[in-house]
Amino acid sequence: MLGLVAQPPVIQSIDEMKKLKPVGFIARCQCGVIVGAMDYERTERAEASKLLGAWLADGCTVSPKLVAPWSISVGVCKCDDSEALADCAALK
Ligand SMILES: [Zn+2]
Repeated sequence: MLGLVAQPPVIQSIDEMKKLKPVGFIARCQCGVIVGAMDYERTERAEASKLLGAWLADGCTVSPKLVAPWSISVGVCKCDDSEALADCAALK
């Protein structure tokens, strides 16, 4: 039940992210699919900033993970995949 879990703050900039001192980040695409996850404690800071910037540039919603351990399933973005959307519609 995702509705019962307190949602972490949504991040708008890399500076905000650094202030939070998170253990990781997830990126959710506009289509609702989680398209990226990063273990911030094991990622080089320069590399992390680059990845976070790329997520934001893609229009993803980036959320920090503040408590370890955490894990998440990363999916494939459906935005440009009209075939997949058609498949979904066919299943209904
Ligand atoms: Zn997408």
